[in-house]
Amino acid sequence: MIRTAIIGGGISGLTLALLLQEKGHQVRVFEASDQPGGAIRTTRSPDGWMAEWGPNTIIESSGRIKRLVAMLDLEHRRQYPDPAANKRYVVRDGRMVAVPGSPAALLTTPLLSASAKLSILREPFRRRPKNEHDETLADFVRRRLGEEFLKWPIDALVGGIYAGDPERLSVRHAFPRLALLEEQHGSLILGQLKGGIRRPPESDEIPRNKAEIFSFDEGLQVLPDAISRRLGDAVTFLSRVKEITRITGRREGSGHIHPDAPDPAEAPDRPHRWRIHSTDPLEPDRDFDNLVYAGTSHGLPSVAFPESLSRLLHPVSEIPHPPVVSLTLGFRRSDIAHPLDGFGMLIPGVEGFPILGTLFTSTLFPNRAPDAGHVTLTTYMGGSRQPEIASREEDEQAKMVMSSLRKLIGLRGEPLFRHRILWSRAIPQYETGFARFLELMERAEREHPGFYLAGNYRTGISVGDTINAAFDLAGRIHRDLSS
Ligand SMILES: Cc1cc2nc3c(=O)[nH]c(=O)nc-3n(C[C@H](O)[C@H](O)[C@H](O)COP(=O)(O)OP(=O)(O)OC[C@H]3O[C@@H](n4cnc5c(N)ncnc54)[C@H](O)[C@@H]3O)c2cc1C
Repeated sequence: MIRTAIIGGGISGLTLALLLQEKGHQVRVFEASDQPGGAIRTTRSPDGWMAEWGPNTIIESSGRIKRLVAMLDLEHRRQYPDPAANKRYVVRDGRMVAVPGSPAALLTTPLLSASAKLSILREPFRRRPKNEHDETLADFVRRRLGEEFLKWPIDALVGGIYAGDPERLSVRHAFPRLALLEEQHGSLILGQLKGGIRRPPESDEIPRNKAEIFSFDEGLQVLPDAISRRLGDAVTFLSRVKEITRITGRREGSGHIHPDAPDPAEAPDRPHRWRIHSTDPLEPDRDFDNLVYAGTSHGLPSVAFPESLSRLLHPVSEIPHPPVVSLTLGFRRSDIAHPLDGFGMLIPGVEGFPILGTLFTSTLFPNRAPDAGHVTLTTYMGGSRQPEIASREEDEQAKMVMSSLRKLIGLRGEPLFRHRILWSRAIPQYETGFARFLELMERAEREHPGFYLAGNYRTGISVGDTINAAFDLAGRIHRDLSS
C-alpha cells in the first residue's frame, strides 16, 4: 500500500489526507498543535457566545466543496447566512454606505462621485496594455476605473480579503479572476454583464456571484474536526516535523541528497523514499513513499529538509504574512443604534480608522450570540496597512475598536464578551514577483519525485481555494503513482 506523509493538519493537509485515504492510500498527518484545523478554530463560551479565531465563512466556489461536506455527512449541520446579511457596507466619509449589488446600481451609489461613475461608462473602451508585466492591483484598478475606485471599494475589499495592500498585491496572482475578465472580455464591466469569466466545460467551479457562503451550527471548526475524526489514528497531534531525510538508493541519506545519487524512484528494492523525524517522543521515525508539506510557508525554515530541497524552499519562506488581530465582542442588541442589517462593513485606509473592518457575525449566524437580545461583532486590525497596531496591548486594541464602533454603528454600551486572537503571520500576500515563488515550488517537486507542496501560500488563500487545491493534488498524486 502507498504510504503518504502529510506535514500539517490545517484544512489543506486534512482534506488531502481524506481524499487520498478514499483512494486507498495509507496516510499519516503530522500536526504540530494539539488540534486539527490550523487557522480554522472556534471558541464557544458556556454562556452562549461563539467566536471564530480565523475564517468565519467558506465560499462554496465549486461542487467539490459541496462533495466534501457530503462525504463527511455534515449537510444537516451546514448553515447558510440569514438573508438579512446580504447587504455589505463600505465606509465613505465616516459613514457606512451599502455596496451596490449590480453594475447598474454602481451608477446611483453614494459610494462614488459623479466623475467615478463616469469612469464606469468609459471602462469598456479602455485598452489592455501590450506588455504583459506583473501589474499591481492598484495600477490595474487605476488604469481601468480610476483612483477613486482604488481608494474606496477596492482598498476596502483588499483589507477584508488579504488584510493586504493593493499597491503591492499582484492582480494576476491575488485576483486572477479580475485579470481573466480583462483578458477574455477586454472589460470588467462587459465581462460581468456577459456572465463573468469563461470556464472550461469540465470545470465544476461555481461563479462567484452564484456561490453561497456557509458555516456550521457550531462554527467552522466542525469541518476540520469531522475530517480528523474520519481519519482517526492517521492524525498525530503535538507532532512537529523537525527533520526529513531522503532515502537514496540502498543507503540512507544523511539529510543531504547527492546530486549523482540514483533516483530512488528507480530503486525497486527501496519502496520508501522519505523518513520523517518529529518532535513527538512517542512517534518513531517512519518511512513513506510520498511526502506532502502542507504547513505554512513561513514555517519552512524550521524543518531540516534535505539540502537540495532546502535551497529551493528557503526563499519561499519569504512570502510576506502581515499580522492580523481578530477581536470578537459581544453586546446587548439595545446598545447598538445601527440595524446591523448586513454581512459587515469594510473600511478603506483613506478613512483613517484603526480597523480594517467588522463582520456582523450574529446577523450572519444568529446562534453566535446567546439570544436575540445580544449580538457579536468580529473586527480585524493590523494587516499590511497598519501592522504596528497588531502588536499593541489587547486593552488598547479593544479601546480602538470600541471607539471606531461608536462612530460608525452608534455603539453605546460596554462588551459582555471578548475574544481576541493575534495571528502574528496571518495571510500570505501574493505580491508582484510571486511567480518566482511558484517556479521554485514547481522545481522542488519536479526535482524531488514524491515530494509535494500544498497550502494557502500556493494555490489561493481562501478555505475554498485550499479545498479545491487538495482535490487537484490528490488526483495528481494518484496519477503520478499510476504512471
Ligand atoms: C484571521 C483570518 C481570517 C480569515 N478569514 C477567512 C475567511 O473568512 N474565509 C476564508 O475562506 N478564508 C479565510 N482565511 C484564510 C484561511 O483560513 C486560510 O488560508 C486557510 O485556513 C489555510 O489553511 P492551510 O491548511 O493551508 O494552512 P494552516 O491553516 O495554516 O495550517 C497549517 C498547519 O500546519 C501545521 N504545521 C506547520 N508546520 C508544521 C510542522 N513542521 N510539523 C507539523 N505541523 C506543522 C500548523 O500547526 C497548522 O495546523 C482567514 C485567515 C485568517 C488568519
